[in-house]
This record gives sequence, C-alpha cells and structure tokens, in this order.
Amino acid sequence: MSHFWSPGIDRLSPYVPGEQPKVADLIKLNTNESPDAPSPKVIEAIKAAAGEGLRRYPDPSSAALTEALAKYHGVERDQVFVGNGSDEVLAHAFYAFFRQSHPLLYPDISYSFYPVYAGLYDIQVRALPLDRHFAIDPDDYVGESGGVIIANPNAPTGRLLPIEAIERIAEQNKHCAVVVDEAYIDFGGQSALALLHQFDNVLVVRTFSKSRSLAGMRVGYAVGSPALIDGLVRVKDSFNSYPLDTVAQAAALASVNDDAYFVESCQRLVGNRDRLVEQLTALGFECIPSAANFVFARHPEHAAESLAAQLREKKILVRHFRAERISEHLRISIGSATECSTLVAVLQEMLS
Ligand code: PMP
Repeated sequence: MSHFWSPGIDRLSPYVPGEQPKVADLIKLNTNESPDAPSPKVIEAIKAAAGEGLRRYPDPSSAALTEALAKYHGVERDQVFVGNGSDEVLAHAFYAFFRQSHPLLYPDISYSFYPVYAGLYDIQVRALPLDRHFAIDPDDYVGESGGVIIANPNAPTGRLLPIEAIERIAEQNKHCAVVVDEAYIDFGGQSALALLHQFDNVLVVRTFSKSRSLAGMRVGYAVGSPALIDGLVRVKDSFNSYPLDTVAQAAALASVNDDAYFVESCQRLVGNRDRLVEQLTALGFECIPSAANFVFARHPEHAAESLAAQLREKKILVRHFRAERISEHLRISIGSATECSTLVAVLQEMLS
C-alpha cells in the first residue's frame, strides 16, 4: 500500500502467471507452451524483420497480419482485431463490452484472468458453478446479463463444450457480447467461428501462444462482427497505438502462411496427449477428457500439491491451483514425446 496509489489499487488481486524458471534443465509442463519450436519460416521472418526498419514505428493496424487472418478464416478484414497476446485482446473486450449494469457471467472454474480483469475494470460478475464433472450447462446462462465469457476448451479443465451449447448461450444472450476464448481450440473441437454468420454478439478470441509456438512473441486476435471489432479498436486506440511490434507482426504473418507446419505440430501434440492420458490412467489418475494441450488430472490416493512438489524435485514443473474444487488436480501441459515419457517414468517411480 502506498499513498501514491489511486484509490482501489490496493484492492486489486493481480493474476499470478505460472513459473518461468531461470534454470534450463527443467521439463516445463506448467504453462501450456508448445513443445515444438516455431516454424523455420517464422524464424526467417523474424530475422528479416529485425533490421534497419526497426527505427520506424510498426504499422498501428497490423494490416498485413489482419488481412491474412481474415483470409485464413474466411471473414472480412473489419471482422479481425489483433493484440499483444490474447490476454490484451481479452482485457480490451472486458473494457469495451462488459462494463454494464448487469453482471458478467462465466463458469466458476475457468481462466483465472477473467476475475482479475473484472476487478480492474469494476465489472460485477456472476460465477456459475460447473457440474461435478466440470461441465458447463448452457441453460444456466439465461436472464439478465451484461455479457458472457467462456473458454472453450475450458481452462484449466481442458473440457470442450460442443458448438450447439455455445450456440444456445449466444441465442439466450443476444442482448450482450458473448466472448468465446479459444486459446486451445486448435487441439480439438469445433470453433465458434462457425456461428459468426448467425450472431453479431459472438466474439472469438484466439492466440499464437499455444498451437503456433509463439508465446514469447505475444500475439492474439479476435474475430467477430464489425461492431464488436470496432469497439475493440476504439479501446486499443485509447490505450496503445502499437500493441504489436514490427517483429511480432512479421512472425505471426509467417506462421499463418505456413499452415502445413502448424497442422503437423497440432497433430503431433494430440497424439502425445492421447498417449499420455492412457498412461496416466494406467497409473491410477482420473483425467478429465481433454481437447486442449494439457490434461487436468487427479490421483485418488495422492494429494495434488505434494505430487507437484515431488515432481518439482525431479525437475518436472506442472501447475497446481490452490483454489476451491480444483486443489486436488494437477494441470499438466503436453510436452514432447520424450518429455511425456520422462514424466510417466518419474510418476511410476513416485507412486510405487
Ligand atoms: N486464454 C486462456 C484460456 C489461457 O489459458 C491463456 C494462457 N494463459 C490465455 C488466454 C492467454 O494467452 P496469451 O496472452 O499468451 O495469448
């Protein structure tokens, strides 16, 4: 607490990101990064962009990237917004759409940044409990609301909501923005992009951090109706004209243009995930069906916090949340095939 602070700063509860260790020899399965390097074409584009041109400001509208994304998704250019990581896109969406007289609706277990943005922007929220299988009931999302946000697949559970359920939520909330955070959709499931021709209230948010191996570059985007995109642009241009630097714009564009690399990387990850789930299940873990690049699992006979600490000692980082209802679970990012095998071997030894 400092007397220099504006009122309310002391009441914020900032997001706590997963550990980014300083030592190199850890198996890092705690922040859902890709085990694959970015595409070689992305690295080339980064090198080409990191030159004399950096003395200039970047394109404030990231026009080339926006255009490529519009083409990729079969939408118009005025339906795409890019930002500095999807976290920034989400923050702008909270500011642009959710500061309403009715509460924002989201599941009680979801991406833990949502309540943080709500706190930052004084947005009232109603957290709707997932059922005991951590599933969303779309019929809960009715009545007076100032907006809806859902991560699909959900985080940290990995559970996918079928598109019919998203459609139902969008239909029941036509008076407000419904944001579908698809950070993990490339690893399984149907995107709500298919609903955009039908709903002008649906905003789909995506990231280059997971399936495109570019967490370090900070690129995210949103696709939705021109009215929603215009709202985001107004907030962005009142905050930071240049959220994406020149290098990030070039890297993201090269990634969009190298679809073969992206598709192969996602397929490999899904293969590793399905194998890991089988092996964890054989070790006695209960795994929630995952459509993401992580698995959310609990062991009925071993406390999650202690397992996480023991894994840490063996140089394997996984994520444990000290939060209600999920404190007995571990969220384990899917690593490379070798990292997954090492994890299974270490767990086997620990549990025996
Ligand atoms: N949404 C969800 C559900 C996430 O898990 C994450 C990653 N922490 C993000 C958004 C943000 O990703 P980024 O800012 O790297 O695009």
